[in-house]
Amino acid sequence: MSKRDYYDVLGIGKDASQEEIKKTYRKLARKYHPDVNKEPDAADKFKEVKEAYEVLSNEQKRAQYDQFGHAGPQSQGFGGGFGADDFGGFSDIFDMFFGGGGRRDPNAPRQGNDLQYTMVLEFEEAIFGKETDIHIPREEECDTCKGTGAKPGTKPETCRHCHGTGQLNVEQNTPFGRVVNKRVCHHCNGTGKEIKEKCSTCHGKGTVKKQKQIHIKVPAGIDDGQQIRVAGKGEPGANGGPAGDLYVVVQVKSHEFFQRDGDDIFCEMPITYAQAALGDELEIPTVHGKVKLKIPAGTQTGKTFRLRGKGAPNVRGYGHGDQNVRMRVITPTNLTERQKELIREFNNLAGHDAADENEESFFSRMKRAFKSD
Ligand SMILES: [Zn+2]
Ligand SMILES: [Zn+2]
Repeated sequence: MSKRDYYDVLGIGKDASQEEIKKTYRKLARKYHPDVNKEPDAADKFKEVKEAYEVLSNEQKRAQYDQFGHAGPQSQGFGGGFGADDFGGFSDIFDMFFGGGGRRDPNAPRQGNDLQYTMVLEFEEAIFGKETDIHIPREEECDTCKGTGAKPGTKPETCRHCHGTGQLNVEQNTPFGRVVNKRVCHHCNGTGKEIKEKCSTCHGKGTVKKQKQIHIKVPAGIDDGQQIRVAGKGEPGANGGPAGDLYVVVQVKSHEFFQRDGDDIFCEMPITYAQAALGDELEIPTVHGKVKLKIPAGTQTGKTFRLRGKGAPNVRGYGHGDQNVRMRVITPTNLTERQKELIREFNNLAGHDAADENEESFFSRMKRAFKSD
């Protein structure tokens, strides 16, 4: 079921004001109201208009819709059929404009609920992708009663209380007089049907929870927090309506050495004092295997080298990111007497002048900075 753009449904521009949205909605709601409009698709049109209005009249939902479209950011989607809870609001709007009389066919097709599943991946699994089967509990049509909810051999009957409409009139005394509202029939939960002898498997619900195995292809380069939409693998629809969607939300475990930022990978490489001073050829671990990296003499802590193309693949297929390797010079500890002696000797030789000079300028700068007068 492809949904029309909410702005198109209301026939307004993307920059429409709230006032314009409200005005257009009132006009269309009157036009398609099933009590006024006897066209067969009027109820569906009304529903479409109402759903568009509910999203666009709420600034937060509207912003989410503008950004993500019908799927919605949290995989709940927008609208997606009318549950019993929506029904009250549906009647309220009728009441508001037309003084009651809203009707809805409880046998109309309804889309199933969307489902969400969290998949935890190892760092490398997210980089390279994988195929796996997941098992999700989901409402499925009951085999025993074929979804009717009635004991095999019996049939659901028309609800005596609402006569199959799924609604009851509720009279209320208000300061403005007596008001008649339509409410969901609580005897049949708005289904319009009464089950005398319930199916023993599903207890009259018509559905049962089953573990459903679903094959998932995780694309290479997927990142923490991203989601995979599997169309039609949500809960089944009612009365022949389409199934909802399944959203697999990915959670990536952190790695001991690597960090990820988009398609780029970062790591820190400890090097010895000698390697830093003299330069060396290092073997750097990457997710694609070891890579040789030449560092020049005089490499300082914090110096970062880029290994091109050694990052994560782009999830949309646009090449690879890089791996950035940050050097960290390890100061030696637990020195032997001989080692200490050599370092002292070294310090007295080449490094001494430079260090002294730096030190001197550093301390003279400090003095200047903290001079009070
Ligand atoms: Zn059943
Ligand atoms: Zn009823």
